[in-house]
Amino acid sequence: MKTIIEPFKIKSVEPIKFTTREQRERILLEAGYNPFLIRAEDVLIDLLTDSGTSAMSAKQWAGMMEGDESYAGARSFFRFETAVKELTGLRYIIPTHQGRAAEKILFTLVGGKGKFIPNNTHFDTTRANVEFSGAVAVDLLNAQGKDPSLIADFKGNIDLAALDAFIKDKGRDAIPLIMLTVTNNAGGGQPVSMENIRATKAIAVKNKIPLFLDACRFAENAFFIKQREAGYRDVPVRDIVKEMFSYADGCTMSAKKDALVNMGGFLALNDEDLATRARNILIVTEGFPTYGGLAGRDLEAIAQGLEEILDEHYLTYRLRSVAYLGEKLVAAGVPILEPPGGHAIYLDAKRLVPHIPPHEFPGQAVVCELYRTGGIRSVEIGSVMFGRTDAATGKFVPAQMELVRLAIPRRVYTQSHIDYVIECVIESFQTRSQLKGLSIVSEAPMLRHFTARFAPLP
Ligand SMILES: *Cc1c(COP(=O)(O)O)cnc(C)c1O
Repeated sequence: MKTIIEPFKIKSVEPIKFTTREQRERILLEAGYNPFLIRAEDVLIDLLTDSGTSAMSAKQWAGMMEGDESYAGARSFFRFETAVKELTGLRYIIPTHQGRAAEKILFTLVGGKGKFIPNNTHFDTTRANVEFSGAVAVDLLNAQGKDPSLIADFKGNIDLAALDAFIKDKGRDAIPLIMLTVTNNAGGGQPVSMENIRATKAIAVKNKIPLFLDACRFAENAFFIKQREAGYRDVPVRDIVKEMFSYADGCTMSAKKDALVNMGGFLALNDEDLATRARNILIVTEGFPTYGGLAGRDLEAIAQGLEEILDEHYLTYRLRSVAYLGEKLVAAGVPILEPPGGHAIYLDAKRLVPHIPPHEFPGQAVVCELYRTGGIRSVEIGSVMFGRTDAATGKFVPAQMELVRLAIPRRVYTQSHIDYVIECVIESFQTRSQLKGLSIVSEAPMLRHFTARFAPLP
């Protein structure tokens, strides 16, 4: 088989800035050892997130010029609405400025005290919005998904027996909706199988509870289904996507992922009454229902992006390029969450730096080391993001996994950029025994990972 190449050529470039190790050491200190507080200019290869970092296509840029900026009833809205309806089959399409705005509206309406929202794994903003409403966010990931070294096809699947038992325990009236996150970002970008979506839907129907998809990476999930699930090899990815959404009563979407744009999102619903109430909130917090929090040109770019994401040459390259990074690291002995996910490689900091205990944030230590070594920005997904202090006991409760995410922006970096990343990770890996943990100097009450400041431990 020949090399799977980038299925595009480059016609606009952005230079990247080189720094020395000494400069990066100072930058880290000034940023409180938090990569979110480093200036992007000071980053050589930015793997902080795949969110909003896609390179847009010539057609998307052309669409930006086509954008209809009318306040109400803009042509661009109808193009956007048609694209989303065609893809999801959902009836009411509500544009928002990004995914969390859709979550905020949804959970303001269905959340609240005494309510529970089960999910395979809530992403951080989803959890925050559920909890902000007063409801409880419950993760019911299946056992395979919790073992970072286990190789299995669908480690994003929800635990169906646990879901069934949970509904029996809490009662359907306490559960306004069930969510499935495709792919499972917080659990390593692992896919959910069609069989699991179908079975979740059956449980939802049996209990008269709506099923929602957190659909940010719907196309990557669909392509994993095509590659791995029996019966889908010859099904066009567009039809797989349609089948996935056919089980959903609604979805939240961050267009900053699989719609290949830099800003945008939507809430899509089948329930007319819920949609009316959602639009009422939208007008207060985002904007008029035909633009939400977006400009007409953004809506054009999303509509075009949703078309391009289904290109199977693109998806082949996308999943292959992430797997390539993973395979090279595994070959060098670097422990990663296996198998590689759809949008990122997750280094397993628990195995990488076993001498650093969870309360000294092993993931954050690795993040800092990658920046120090190669100017690479990654992000901790472990006890900084999900660890907490138990209110009753005052004890530190670590996250289930201590991961470092290397998220790959869509259509941005070439294979030589990735080869450089591989070299830097391996170099850091070789000196890992000298790495020290960190302590938190200051933190915010919610989503602390964005702004916390750290100090290295002696
Ligand atoms: C990014 C993301 C969100 C939130 O979307 P934003 O556009 O960043 O607000 C929600 N869920 C998942 C799974 C995500 O990856």
